[in-house]
Amino acid sequence: MDQTKIDALRMQAVPDFKHLINGQHVAASDGATMDVVSPADGTLLTRVAKGTAADMNAAITAARAAFEDRRWAGQPPATRKKVLLKWADLIEANALELAVLGVRDNGTEISMAFRAEPGSAAATIRFYAEALDKLYGEIAPTPPGILGMIHKEPVGVVGAIIPWNFPMMIGAWKMGPALAMGNSVVLKPAETASLSLMRMVELAHEAGLPPGVLNAVTGEGAVVGEAMGLSMDVDALVFTGSGGTGRRLMTYAAQSNLKRVYLELGGKSPNVVFADAPNLDEAAAVAAAGIFRNAGQVCVAGSRLLVEASIHDDFVAAVAKAAKAMRVGDPLKLETQVGAVNSEAQLDANLGFVETAMAEGGNVVTGGTRILQDTGGYYMAPTIVTGVTPDATLAQKEVFGPVLGVTPFETEEEAIGIANSTVYGLAGGVWTANLSRAHRMVAGIRTGVVHVNTYGGPDVAVPMGGVGQSGNGHDKSLHAIDKYINLKTAWIKL
Ligand code: ADP
Repeated sequence: MDQTKIDALRMQAVPDFKHLINGQHVAASDGATMDVVSPADGTLLTRVAKGTAADMNAAITAARAAFEDRRWAGQPPATRKKVLLKWADLIEANALELAVLGVRDNGTEISMAFRAEPGSAAATIRFYAEALDKLYGEIAPTPPGILGMIHKEPVGVVGAIIPWNFPMMIGAWKMGPALAMGNSVVLKPAETASLSLMRMVELAHEAGLPPGVLNAVTGEGAVVGEAMGLSMDVDALVFTGSGGTGRRLMTYAAQSNLKRVYLELGGKSPNVVFADAPNLDEAAAVAAAGIFRNAGQVCVAGSRLLVEASIHDDFVAAVAKAAKAMRVGDPLKLETQVGAVNSEAQLDANLGFVETAMAEGGNVVTGGTRILQDTGGYYMAPTIVTGVTPDATLAQKEVFGPVLGVTPFETEEEAIGIANSTVYGLAGGVWTANLSRAHRMVAGIRTGVVHVNTYGGPDVAVPMGGVGQSGNGHDKSLHAIDKYINLKTAWIKL
């Protein structure tokens, strides 16, 4: 990455984006478009098609036709693998262009976006491409005279609804395994972050994916997302986003064809720091990065800091120092560590959480305000609130912004109790040099992932998914494949 190239790319005009249905760029059926505003400076970047329910249904019809005639599922695995590997190569070859486009759209700092977006999207597509010809069916231990074969069949048409924080990475988590297993896909990007994902879908076609196998429809969740959810012709819905939308998707499934629904929802992840942590300075720096990078718009963000009471004041001071030192601003500058908040509405919601926290007895140690308003962009200072009781709003509700709530604890049991005291169960962290305690904490914290003496670190090799109201099912790893296959038993008399 070099700043000169980024600066050249940011000057390029962004074309209008249309849906991609059956390999064709098509406008909304009523011609409507939505403005795309850059959160970095509030300027109009471009327009995208504002889809209608009819557009979504056209995409689903195209996906169904592609699935039924087996133009993709019916290809030799080696051919599908080649296409997906080519796609990963194209993503990598266009990585900077994709990253800059995505950052102009959603405001994530480029230093993180480059790695997390085209970087992990390419790695994810490649992982599933390489896996697809190594996944065998099974032969069951049946009685003599019977052959019990277990086939892994694609589910059919997969609808994927994607959020705005990491559109390419999360999109790849769904598209990679879905396409590898021979499904057709209809994608619904988020209103405020569709551009890089749409470009990535174009690249899939350049790589040789047959038309109709991967379709993408932009527009409002309540319109095109709802049409996808209610469709009688979508076999599985995979989603990352808010709990409210997740609930709606389950309702849509119940109201239509009982399609499978897999949800990756929010979190209120506890980061638990014991006095015996091996390196408290490192713990403080990682705690700050774990909540403030991408302006806190990370589902696994360590948004609750639980600190052993004996080190509370010193540790909070160290995290506050790290927070104040973080460079907030222009997301397209390489040195920026905290980019823009995705939208003005999200920024207002973040500030509202700070107000509520103060009203409930919290103490703002640093931040708590909008900054850099003269840029026209949506920036918030990394914010730390102490004195957050385990039942306070800030300890219970996901902010999805750069706001860290701090709660002291006295004992390991108390820490586990507080860590598990929300409806969520996505991620968590533990800092201790005591190996036995680390294992007890890993077992005690009810989440899909627990980090020990670190926080974060994306890798497609491990599963990602939550428990409780953080969702069900897993993205990443070979376990994600389960969402995209049906097991069929063939029971054969010999
Ligand atoms: P966030 O708070 O992260 O924006 P949302 O759940 O609102 O979370 O958005 C995540 C995705 O869900 C976006 O692509 C959005 O368009 C979509 N979405 C929002 N509302 C609905 C809905 N009623 N039906 C289907 N999809 C929706």
